[in-house]
This record gives sequence, structure tokens and C-alpha cells, in this order.
Amino acid sequence: MKGKTTKEIVCSFCGRPQNETGMLVSGENANICDSCISQAHEMLGSDGNNGKKKKLVSEAIKNKKTPTPSELKSYLDDYVIGQDEAKKVLSVSVYNHYKRILKQGEEDGIEIEKSNIIMLGETGTGKTLLAKTIAKFINVPFCIADATVLTEAGYVGEDVETIITRLLQSADYNVEAAEMGIVFIDEIDKIARKSDNPSITRDVSGEGVQQGLLKLLEGTVANIPPQGGRKHPDQKYIQVNTQNILFICGGAFEGIERNIANRMQAQTIGYRNDSQEAMFDKSKPLQYVSPADLKSFGLIPEIIGRLPVITFLNPLDAAALKLILTKPKNALLKQYKKLFKIDDIKLEIHDDVIDIIVAKALEYKLGARGLRTICEAIMLDYMYDAPNHRGEEVIITADYASLKIGELNFKALNAA
Ligand code: ADP
Repeated sequence: MKGKTTKEIVCSFCGRPQNETGMLVSGENANICDSCISQAHEMLGSDGNNGKKKKLVSEAIKNKKTPTPSELKSYLDDYVIGQDEAKKVLSVSVYNHYKRILKQGEEDGIEIEKSNIIMLGETGTGKTLLAKTIAKFINVPFCIADATVLTEAGYVGEDVETIITRLLQSADYNVEAAEMGIVFIDEIDKIARKSDNPSITRDVSGEGVQQGLLKLLEGTVANIPPQGGRKHPDQKYIQVNTQNILFICGGAFEGIERNIANRMQAQTIGYRNDSQEAMFDKSKPLQYVSPADLKSFGLIPEIIGRLPVITFLNPLDAAALKLILTKPKNALLKQYKKLFKIDDIKLEIHDDVIDIIVAKALEYKLGARGLRTICEAIMLDYMYDAPNHRGEEVIITADYASLKIGELNFKALNAA
């Protein structure tokens, strides 16, 4: 061991010398560095000095007037194209949710139950975007969790409580704010039971995860390690109550159309009802989805019971994709214009370029997500050279766009 010549001042907790810390506070017989101070703060949770600050943040959420459903929807309209039905359902549920948290309290014995939401729709149709946008508007902590990486506690993978860890992180460890947050659980369809019969062998990533999720959805106190890492026995946990957290689940539920059609047909067998048959619009079967279809797809009834609000998103057609490129407040093409403007370059995009981009995204079934990839391919060379062309104008023509799109490997994109 290297001997110390002079008595070096080190943090008595982590052992780091003074020059490796931002600040070292010295007491009579001990010293503490800045990072150990903040860790200790976190461990104190809302009882610590931090508590005052934390309270102020959540007071702000509480005092903010809850927007009405129509205000919520019109905000969503600024960012999300189409999906009117889902927007309406989401706006009403979010409105009721915050009414339930903030205004409940009269002792009339009527308890308003939580209205967690499940959204069905092809990938890239705006499920995440809807959830994210609404959380931003009402200014509550928000996080996205991917159900496919979840496993039961104790198995390799993330256990369900890591979802709450992420929410707490996005709330800056403000427990009270996190407890009023919104969690979006993506790909909930991927943890469906593989067969309709409960299996004898353990289904680590399917039904077991659903059971774990169930606790979070209905309300439990989750024990979160202060540093977000794995749990270990002697740790002091931060306790987060999930009772008032709004869960929005999303999934493509590929193939559920068959379950819906079968159920709809079974309902009409025996007394063929032409008007009912005519009402069944086969091109948009998701609009008829019911809890029974979710059950036959493999979600356990308890989970379905905790997701009482069901809604759907429509596939995006050419007109919608075109609007996505141009209309929302932060539409993709507006973003490129801004990027070039920062370099003092005026970007002009010919109208037929938009049609070409949309046609390619549709041809390769890339959806709205593919729009970005295609635009990047078109803009890349100009963006690379932008700093050398300040004060000039860039014009994207249909020929140039087609040339650049031709260089993209769509087959690989589609497989990704
Ligand atoms: P999902 O969660 O349904 O798979 P996302 O919400 O993540 O899809 O959508 C991916 C991206 O595509 C979004 O970030 C957004 O840029 C774009 N997008 C998808 N649907 C819409 C829509 N309806 N309106 C505007 N943009 C959309």
C-alpha cells in the first residue's frame, strides 16, 4: 500500500480524497463529500430537507386547474394526427383520473375507481405519442416501459417494479409527484399467455409478469432502491404507492381481428341479423374490440379487469402520413427546416417529394416511424455540408429524393 505522507482529507463515507470531490464538508471527526450528501438525502426521502422542495412541486400539480376533456383533446390535436376516438377516450379518462385524485374526498361513501387504459393499434400509429403528449400537457411525471423485457421478480430481466423506478427517476425522485404520474406500458400484448389453458410449467415472461403487473395496476406500495439499481437486503427503500398512478397500456395485438370477427359472427349465428352484419366494418375490426377478445388473446381476466377503458387506433393511410410530415406542431419537415435555419439555410421541399416519401413508407409497411428514416436518407448529404453553405438555399426536388431513397436498403429496414 502506498503510504500517505501528509494526512490526506478523505470522505469518511466513500473514501474519495478531496480533489476527487466537488465539495467536502468536514465535521469534528469525519468528512462527507457532495455525492454522499445527495445519496443520504435520497435515502431520507420526503422526510429530509428535500421534503420541502418536493412538496412544492407536487403542490404545483395539485393547484393547476385540471384541463377539461375538450382542452385535452385539442392539445392532442396539435401533435397527433387523426385517432379521434382514442383521443376522446384518453382525454375523458385522464380528466376523470385527476378529478378522482384531486377532488375525491367527500365522505359520501362513493369511491371513484381508477380508469387505467388499454390502447390497441398497429405499431407506429401514435399510441406512445398520445400518452407522452397528454402527460406533457398536464405536467406530470411520465415514463415508458416495455413489457417484453419484464420478467417475474428473481428471474433474469427486469422485474415489474423497475417501471416505478423509472417513473420516480423521471419525477426527480419526488415521490409525491411520481405517485400522480402516468406510466405507458408498451407491447402489453407480448406478455399474453401463449395458450388459453393455464400451463403447468412456469411461464416466466407471460402469465407471471401479468400477475406482477396486476399488483401495480390495482395499487400497491412498491419498494424502490434509492439508486435505481438492483435490490439488496440491507437497503432502505423508497416507498411509492401506485394507487393513483395512471397506467396506459398499448399493444398491436396482431391477429386479434380474428378473435373479434369470430365473436361477432358467433353472436349473429342462429338469428342472422342483416343489419348487424352490415354494421360490421371488416376494414376496421379493432373498433369492436371487447374484454372477451383480450381474454381469448391471452390476457388474464384480472388484468383486463384493471384496464377498464379500451380504445383503438386506426392504421395510418397516405393522407394521414402526409399530414404527419407537415401538420403537427413539431412535424418532421418543420424540424428539418428549423435544423437548416440554425445554419442560416433556407430549406425548400417540393410538394411531390412528400408524396414520394409517403408512398415508400406505405409500400414497405414502415408506418409513421419509417417517415423519419426516409427523410434522414434524403437530407443526410445536405446536413453534412450545411456548415459550408450558410446563407444559401437548399431545394429538395422529387428527382433528388428518389435518388436518395433508391440508396436505402428497404428490405433490411423492414426486417428491423
Ligand atoms: P406506437 O406507440 O403506436 O408504436 P408511436 O407513438 O411511437 O407509435 O409513433 C412513432 C412515431 O411516429 C411518433 O414519434 C411520431 O413521430 C409518429 N406518429 C405515429 N403516429 C402518429 C400520429 N397519429 N400523428 C403524428 N405522428 C405520429
